[in-house]
Amino acid sequence: MTTDALTQARAAYDAFRARGLKLNMQRGQPSDADFDLSNGLLSALGEADTHLDGLDLRNYPGGVTGLPSARALFAQYLDVKAENVIVWNNSSLELQAMVLTFALLHGLRGSAQPWARLPGGAPPKMIVTLPGYDRHFLLLQTLGFELLSVPMQPDGPDVAAIARLAAEDETVKGVLFVPTYSNPGGESISAGKARQLAGIQAAASDFTIFADDAYRAHHLSDDGQDTPVNFVVLCRDAGFPDRAFVFASTSKVTFASGGLGFVASSEDNIKWLSRFLNAQSIGPNKVEQARHVRFLQAYPGGLEGLMRDHGRLIAPKFAAVDETLRRELGESGEYATWTSPRGGYFISLDTAEPVAARVVELAEAAGVSLTPAGATYPGGQDATGRNIRLAPTRPPLDEVYTAMQGVAACIRLATEEYRAAHG
Ligand code: PMP
Repeated sequence: MTTDALTQARAAYDAFRARGLKLNMQRGQPSDADFDLSNGLLSALGEADTHLDGLDLRNYPGGVTGLPSARALFAQYLDVKAENVIVWNNSSLELQAMVLTFALLHGLRGSAQPWARLPGGAPPKMIVTLPGYDRHFLLLQTLGFELLSVPMQPDGPDVAAIARLAAEDETVKGVLFVPTYSNPGGESISAGKARQLAGIQAAASDFTIFADDAYRAHHLSDDGQDTPVNFVVLCRDAGFPDRAFVFASTSKVTFASGGLGFVASSEDNIKWLSRFLNAQSIGPNKVEQARHVRFLQAYPGGLEGLMRDHGRLIAPKFAAVDETLRRELGESGEYATWTSPRGGYFISLDTAEPVAARVVELAEAAGVSLTPAGATYPGGQDATGRNIRLAPTRPPLDEVYTAMQGVAACIRLATEEYRAAHG
């Protein structure tokens, strides 16, 4: 019986491999069609558009916090006031790195000492969610943080586990996670959990929520959207006004290479951060900020309208993944389980047996490039051996269907091989 299943699985895999395809499901990038929606950005400013908000864009206008109209636009995006936002350059990851680095060198406003100089030379600890985003792990480990982990659950991080870790150790300085349509599982934190997290009693007086809200507006459809939370307000209402930094960008709204990154926090934290940004820069690229303001204001339906158009391009690709996996692997979990997000850029798949690395290897050999197994765990080490991140946004829709047929064949073969070898 098992041998039959193995023989069949191998035959199906060999047939797929013989097609000699070259498909990529690895990169969490927009497609060319997504980019094309924002081509108007390239001509949003003409030669006459030297000024905005009464400022000369060509000089050094307006300091480090950003162009007033850009602050207003992205404050609305993050559901805060303009005074609570800094609009910087193209990468929100870089903003995260800067805030963390300033905390290490100087401490946050409520810190007794810089995070890099804790008593007894202890390393600062940061909580992350698993599975999670490899660049968060890389950034934190590069900066010298020790990582603690809690599971990501369907309604957001395991907040009870965060509260336990934070309560017992004052070197636990915070948590970094994706609150809306998380990378890789697409989970969003519930309003209840967000309120609990904002109010946890931590041993460290400067325990901080670093919310990387990269997919806050990245819904797949108009109905059935997850509701993003507002950690700046939740923390203020919980009596910890300086507890949250919320990051986002337009990397997956306009252009990945040429978007804008921004951060929201309490007004006091914005002043704190401005002081350090002012020491390293006279200000961010205001021409790019003006271009985004002009383009997004002119887009039919504004930023929301643009996100709706992205959703129309991306939703069929998520459906293609789900549909193909259901058809090829069934819904019993015999071979794998996977998430069905309502937004974001990724789907997280767990194989029933610990064969993720073998699946990725088989897929590569058959011409389908997947995110390396283990990438969703710190140091690339997935102790479960089961997790695979699927990224369906970049390839055209027909390629997503084809690639997923191949992935399903790889999962079947790797599973049957494993079961044959392990009885
Ligand atoms: N955060 C998350 C959760 C992401 O998935 C990504 C892109 N893959 C980023 C941040 C990168 O954002 P940016 O381009 O603004 O640095």
